[in-house]
Amino acid sequence: MRRPEVAPGRLFIGGQWRESTEDGRIAVADPATGSVVTTVAWGTTADVDAAVDAARAALDGWAATPGRQRGRILNRVAEVVRARADELVAVESLDVGKPISLCRAVDVETTAEQYEYYAALAQTLDGATRQIPIPSHAYTRREPIGVVAAITPFNFPLILSSSKIAPALAAGNTVVHKPAEDTPLSALLMAEILAEAGVPAGVVNVVTGYGAEIGEHLIRHPGVDKVAFTGSTTVGRQAASIAGSQLKPVTMELGGNAANIIFEDADLEKAIGAAIKGFVFNTGQFCMGGPRLLVASPLYDAVLGALAEAVPHVPLGDPFDPATVIGPMAAERHLSKVERYVAQAKADGGRIVTGGHRVDRKGCYFEPTVIADLPDNSSVVREEIFGPVLTVQRFDTEDEAVAMANSTPYGLAAGLQTENLARAHRVAARLQAGIVWINDWAMLDPAIPFGGVKDSGYGREYGPEALAGYTRTKSVVVSLA
Ligand code: NAD
Repeated sequence: MRRPEVAPGRLFIGGQWRESTEDGRIAVADPATGSVVTTVAWGTTADVDAAVDAARAALDGWAATPGRQRGRILNRVAEVVRARADELVAVESLDVGKPISLCRAVDVETTAEQYEYYAALAQTLDGATRQIPIPSHAYTRREPIGVVAAITPFNFPLILSSSKIAPALAAGNTVVHKPAEDTPLSALLMAEILAEAGVPAGVVNVVTGYGAEIGEHLIRHPGVDKVAFTGSTTVGRQAASIAGSQLKPVTMELGGNAANIIFEDADLEKAIGAAIKGFVFNTGQFCMGGPRLLVASPLYDAVLGALAEAVPHVPLGDPFDPATVIGPMAAERHLSKVERYVAQAKADGGRIVTGGHRVDRKGCYFEPTVIADLPDNSSVVREEIFGPVLTVQRFDTEDEAVAMANSTPYGLAAGLQTENLARAHRVAARLQAGIVWINDWAMLDPAIPFGGVKDSGYGREYGPEALAGYTRTKSVVVSLA
């Protein structure tokens, strides 16, 4: 596959492609080469206002469209995503630096599956009848919330926008999507795909631009009824407090710093596979990655030895090479942050087992890095690094492992590797996380609810839970007297 030529992006508002009201442009770079590949419109608050107006104008018609018909259109979106998979893979890989093989198998296929899944659920928005002791007929209706502000981060642009747009549309809402400033390209291609599949004008609008300028304005906008935000805990806190002051419902999918526990009774080969997947996938720019490996003392040296042997062989290179597993980081600022954490690890007494350096080639490449022996209180262990870095610590007892796993403010994901069934379930119940994986890592599906506890946020995406988050229940009580 060749790197695509990407035409300059415009805003998609009310079914029309438009320039921004101030004609500004934002450069989009290829992280594998550092070259600017195209530009997108620098959206303004006036553009956000126009997008919210368009979404409001489209709301009644879309909400009144029968769920079965909305479902047919969402199924058609999945078909067009698959038919245009090559274009989506090329654009997403170019923009984010994602290896094309993974991008096709994970990002693009999951996007299609999300639309299919919510196409089916669009037909299930049934209310209930309730028996009450007064002479009446009482029932509930599940109604859309209204206009949804969908704000997404740089690392999984396609998946994280479809995890909001698909259930929001299934439930009869309309959407204004603001993608991340670093990686906005697939959102524009998806706008084209949604229109091609028959999503009516104004139902989904895309405004590109900077978070602090237009993201906040979008959240605050009186025409927005719900905020679906994925991003860092710092920005999420701010977004949730603005939405909270207006009593708008929110879904907050925020940062993570998951622990992966290898117990002494684990299948070592499988456990090493899970540990590597947990920190190299998407070059470690992975909210549900497993950057903290906790290893039972009897296995500690064996695990470090196996990682030192295996990690340098994970293929790193050009995302457009089908053999590549680790591509560049998505932007220079993300790589600089990783460099700072690796320097801090050394200052805190950490031992670099493998990696530790920027790769000596053009683009934002960093070696997959394993760091042992860090103390619990090191910021490298406690904070979200968001790069291809794995810290490895030892523990002696199950209680100690659980306490270490739960010791950071985050609670998005966790995992454990053990062949002991009772331990697997016992420990899964004790881990403070929205999802726990046992004997693998990052097993996800549109049917499995996903989201955080503690500083990783609240609300759930995926599954029927996400659909419920885009509806309101109305009770209707009819007197039979
Ligand atoms: P970020 O918080 O910097 O940006 C996320 C989005 O918010 C972007 O679209 C950005 O433009 C916008 N934004 C920035 N400032 C804003 C403001 N003041 N008001 C409104 N919107 C604003 O996050 P990022 O660096 O793009 O992404 C990485 C972070 O996202 C990591 O912390 C990662 O863990 C998290 N993440 C979480 C999940 C999850 O499902 N929980 C998934 C992916 C990424």
